[in-house]
Order: sequence, then structure tokens, then C-alpha cells
Amino acid sequence: MERKFEETLLSFKELVHKIKYYNEALAVLFWDLRTGAPKKGVPARAKVIGMLSTEAFRLSTSAEMEEFLNYFEQKDNHEQLDSIYKAVIQECRKEFDRFKKIPEDMFTEYVILTSEAESVWEEAKNTDKFSLFSPFLEKIVDFNLRFIELWGYEGNKYNTLLDYYEPGMTVDKLDRIFEQLRERIVPLVQQIKDSGKQPDDSMFFRSYFAPNKQEEFSLMILDKMGYGFDAGRLDESEHPFTIGMTPGDIRITTHYYPNNFSSALFSSIHEGGHALYEQNISSDLDGTPLSTGTSMGIHESQSRFWENIIGRSYNFWSCYYEDLKKVFPIEFEGVSLEAFYRAINKVEPSLIRVEADEVTYNLHIMIRYEIEKALINKEIIVADLPRIWKEKMKEYLGVEPKDDKEGVLQDVHWSGGSFGYFPSYTLGNIYSAQIYHAIRKQFDNLDEMIRNGELIKIKEWLGENIHKHGKLLTPTEILKSVTGEEINSSYLIEYLENKYKEIYNIK
Ligand code: ZN
Repeated sequence: MERKFEETLLSFKELVHKIKYYNEALAVLFWDLRTGAPKKGVPARAKVIGMLSTEAFRLSTSAEMEEFLNYFEQKDNHEQLDSIYKAVIQECRKEFDRFKKIPEDMFTEYVILTSEAESVWEEAKNTDKFSLFSPFLEKIVDFNLRFIELWGYEGNKYNTLLDYYEPGMTVDKLDRIFEQLRERIVPLVQQIKDSGKQPDDSMFFRSYFAPNKQEEFSLMILDKMGYGFDAGRLDESEHPFTIGMTPGDIRITTHYYPNNFSSALFSSIHEGGHALYEQNISSDLDGTPLSTGTSMGIHESQSRFWENIIGRSYNFWSCYYEDLKKVFPIEFEGVSLEAFYRAINKVEPSLIRVEADEVTYNLHIMIRYEIEKALINKEIIVADLPRIWKEKMKEYLGVEPKDDKEGVLQDVHWSGGSFGYFPSYTLGNIYSAQIYHAIRKQFDNLDEMIRNGELIKIKEWLGENIHKHGKLLTPTEILKSVTGEEINSSYLIEYLENKYKEIYNIK
């Protein structure tokens, strides 16, 4: 019996590693594809990626996997597993059920539909024709409704979709969270508008910011944050991203705009935050599906923490503004630290989510959440979306898109069927403020540390309390162990009100 257990565990580990290695290979291929693979090689590369992902998918849904899961879920066997492999079994079971409950031909049909939908979405966006995209979106919603029936759900149907990206999150919790945010953020945005104290950020757009100099400065900041260049690299791509192979190889990208100073720098810091997380996962989890972030929300908390809470703070720039002026002496001539700080924190209701500031950003997410929830619960239909979008933008942000291109068609997510993903961004913002509060309690001289550029201490604290656990702990377990409580949006509200009432001189 004992011997059988050992042997079975060994074979199971082999299978788990094999799946992980396929995924690592895929990650390298994706990275290469998006950072400069020759155009003519793309179609052939797409085939290789298709073949390898099918292979990895087959392994994780194979009869062999099912046998292992059944074996290790038996009480006697389960008790002999260490805590890591108990969690591995749970994770593999989740993946297995997610795909196995869907009939194979239905799954294939869906994969073809969503890949087609993405190029149709692109065309619909470019030509501002929602009617091109809507038949695809209708089908995608319909597929998701059928998936939910197959997967099962508790309470609200949308819960099943939420849980995939943020285990444990429910509509009930989110409704409460968004309601609290809306109550305080909508009036704050109005006060900011009424203050008449809009910062001048024209200095970011009036000069030519040489990409190589932007890169030089981004590299310097990443180094100060503790991003390990012996375990990563910074490249350029159309859209910034982080991609992880193993903790020893976590790569990030940014995009340099010569006539927009702040975009590339803050993207680098943002992706750097994601990368720090992945670089500092414990090596005990190597080769398992647990060697990654625990949820999209916690991941986003790490990127937002560095980008906004640290990277857009006065203390941070008290330390690095002089360095920045050495790299761009003419471009920032005559711009004081105060003026620079106010400019990077300009709040303005706008139409496009990815360009939104940290105050209005959550309102953009709220609109998407409400629409998704209503679609999945059949309270609205796809044809209503352009109108609902405009109404909600007007209600929450006070701006109205003139067309669907800058409205309902702006995001790629729905074309790929990623319903339930958007809330992760706001959850990330909320978590980041909670984590910030916890760090402040830990270091009573935090402001001074940041002013002195001692960012490594912060990185180490995050590594010890959050990063190292990978997916071994759930998002709620991590949050509770770090902050002593569950999700609580009041820290984000407090942070935003304090920071922006000062910047905008609101009493
Ligand atoms: Zn991110």
C-alpha cells in the first residue's frame, strides 16, 4: 500500500511537471511573438502555439489525470499528502472539472467562436460598427450561460464566473463593495471638478522624450524596486504585459511614446509590481500550478500598489525627481517637484478605461460589472449595450461617448469571453489600499523610508507576507493574514479622499 502511494505520487508529479513545462514553453513563444517576432513567421508560430496548448489541455483533462485525482482524493491517500500537494490536487481538480464538464465539441466550437470574435471586434471597433460584433457577443453570452449550467452555481449565476478569477468572490459581496465606492467616489470626482484647481500636465506632452532615455529611467526605477534583472528583462511591445516562465524568468514589457512622458514609466512600474510577485514565489512550489499569483485581484493589487500608491506618491518623487531631471534636464526645466507631483495625479473623468486616473478608474469598472451581471442574469440583451453604456457613463462619470468606438467597443475582454474578469481591477485597487494600511502599521517611518528610496524593505515585506505563498493560500487567506480582515473598501476610499482633497485643495 505504502509503496503504491509513493509510486503513484511520483507519476502524478511527473504529469504535473509536464503540464507546467508545456506552459512554460508556451509562455516563451508568446513573449517572442509579442516582442519582435518577424511578421512572416506569425502564422506558422500560431500553429505551434495551437498544438502545444492543445497538448497541455489534453494532459490536464486526461483519463490519467482523472485517475490520479480520484486516487488522491480518497481519504487515506489524501491524508498522506503534504500541504503543497493537497493544494495541487485541489487546483488540478478545479481545472479538470472546468473543462471536463463541457462536451468536447462544444468547447472546440467556443474556441473557434472567440478567436474569430476577436478579429471581428477589432474591425467593429475600427469602423465603429457595434452591429458587426453584436451577433458574436450574443453567441458568446449564450455559451457562457450554458457553461454556467454545466458548472453549476450558487446564488447568482454570475458567481461562477467571478469565482474563476477571484476564488470566493460573490455578487453579494461585490454589490456592497461597489455601492460603498460609488457613494463616496462620485461626489469626490464632482468636488475635484468643482475645485477649479486642475493641474497643468502639458509638460508631459510638449517635448520629445527620447525612448532610450525613457528606458534608462524605467530600468533605474525597476532596479530600485528590487526587480531582479538576473531573473527578468524589460522589452518593448504594443501593449505592456508581464509574462512568467518560472520565478527565475519573469519578463515585462512597456511601450514608449516619444510625445507622452508618463505612459511608459508608469506601465513599467505597474508591470514591475506584477513581476515582483512572480519572482518571489517560494521555490517549494516550483514545477506546480501553485507557482503563480493566487488570483487576478491580488495580482492587480501588487501592480497598483507600486504604480499608484508608491509610484504616484509625493515621497517617492521627493527621492527620484532629481534623478529624472538629470535624464531630462531640458524637458523638465522650470518644473517644480510640486507641479510634477500634481501633474502625475491629474484627475479627469474620461471615456477610456485604460487611460483613466486612479480615482475615476473604479467607476469604469463598475459600469462593466453591472452590464455583465445583467447580461448573465438575462435582465438586458446585447442589443441594449450601446445605449446602457452611454447612460451609465453619463450617470457615473458625467461624460458621454459620441460613438461606440470610445464606448462599448473599447475593451477586448468580451470578445474572448472573459466575463467576470473586470472586477479584478477594482479588487486590486481595494486590496492595495488595505495592504498599504497594513504596511504603515508595520513601519512607522514608512514615509521616510520611501523618501530615502528604501524600497527594497517594502519589496521584502511583500515577498514575505504575500509573494512567497503563490497560490498555496486563497486570496481571502492572504488578505486576512496580512491585514487581519476581509475585503474592506473603506481603506481605498480613505486613501483617495486624503490624497486628492489635498492635491485639489478641497476642504
Ligand atoms: Zn495589471
